[in-house]
Amino acid sequence: MKNIFKITLLLCGLMINAQTDQKIYDIIDAVSAERIKEDIKTLADFGTRHTLSDTLSNTRGIGAARRWIKSEFDDISNRCNNCLEVFYQSDLVEKGTNQRIVHDVMVVNVVAIQRGTKYPNRFIIMSGDIDSRVSNPTNFTSDSPGANDNASGMAGTIEAARVLSKYKFESSVIYVGLSGEEQGLFGGKGLAAYAKEKGWDIVGILNNDMIGNIKGVDGVIDNRTFRIFSEPVPPTETERERNARRFYGGEVDGISRQLARYIHKTTKTYMPEMNPMMVYRLDRFGRGGHHRPFNDAGFAGIRIMEAHENYTQQHQDIRTEDGINYGDTFEHVNFDYAKKLTTVNAINLASIASAPPTPKSVSIGGIVQPSVKFKWDTVDGAVGYKIYWRDTTSPTWDHSRYVGDVTEFTLDGIVVDNFFFGVAAVGMDGYESIVVFPNKTFR
Ligand SMILES: [Zn+2]
Repeated sequence: MKNIFKITLLLCGLMINAQTDQKIYDIIDAVSAERIKEDIKTLADFGTRHTLSDTLSNTRGIGAARRWIKSEFDDISNRCNNCLEVFYQSDLVEKGTNQRIVHDVMVVNVVAIQRGTKYPNRFIIMSGDIDSRVSNPTNFTSDSPGANDNASGMAGTIEAARVLSKYKFESSVIYVGLSGEEQGLFGGKGLAAYAKEKGWDIVGILNNDMIGNIKGVDGVIDNRTFRIFSEPVPPTETERERNARRFYGGEVDGISRQLARYIHKTTKTYMPEMNPMMVYRLDRFGRGGHHRPFNDAGFAGIRIMEAHENYTQQHQDIRTEDGINYGDTFEHVNFDYAKKLTTVNAINLASIASAPPTPKSVSIGGIVQPSVKFKWDTVDGAVGYKIYWRDTTSPTWDHSRYVGDVTEFTLDGIVVDNFFFGVAAVGMDGYESIVVFPNKTFR
């Protein structure tokens, strides 16, 4: 009897303490640089994928490109017993909406949904962009291969679908090619509105935009570092929430930032050779990307991107000037690096889609006490919960304690004033939800 008890305890311990899962290593091994290279070549060879370009030709323009992307998703789906729901999601954008829309255009996204087994209406999204541009954003006829910006992100998204479609996940995964990015983030806006209308419970979007350049314009060469951009707090927060932050913290703990920390942690756990670099801002200085419309709609979203950009190879007419080869062409892309960043996406999609949802509400207390107490909502599918904390100046959740299947806990000997805290739900195989920053207080 005693032995059985001991063995049970040991097994539980193993399960709960499992820091890694073989499935994730298998996913890492399955991502192919060669397939990503072929797909970038195919996309670049459509000549231009400008949002306003030709849609009738089967060899040139954005119409041909999106039909090819759809056919790839359809092929992948055929090979997994129709595990993907593939469709176009489109919106008309009228001439003059901004200066870059010089004629009426249907902005068409290509969506592939891998439906979750347990939480079918809960979604984690990976996106790349279909469209490209040259120096003049309204020039929709010149050659615009957009090999890095953003055939790399698009090819990575297709490759992630190939690899992950071999698995089943509890939550749904969406792979999407968005259009209209260069004209004003129209595709993301359209899909975010569609998601709201359908009542999708979106965990977040991993927006991949330029994941294939390792040689910076400043000469730095680095094939290990990449950036994760995340805004500090949602733009949709209320005045009341803003005011509460002054007293309880949370200035750097919005939902997108927690998603960024999750990606940082998963990468460090499974791909320790990589250097994920969290950048504490929405996007690059004064510049934009397709996660923003999702943030605008109140969803978590981050941008995954190379660390070192080369400005002579983005948004440029193809030309040689003063010995410099301008243009976003195929030969400049590093496919092995694009593979690494695709892998970062794949393991995070798999981890999030394998984990239970986050607790909806987390309360914290401990004012003038030598301990911190927590209460949270039960999460369907969680086997336990983990409390995380960190120094107020630390970017990452450095300390944690697994507390089992309870919905309240007191951390003794820790003073609430000196740390930031969060709670995550833990699932069957040790997969954890994204950390939730407390949204209520109690005494
Ligand atoms: Zn761009």
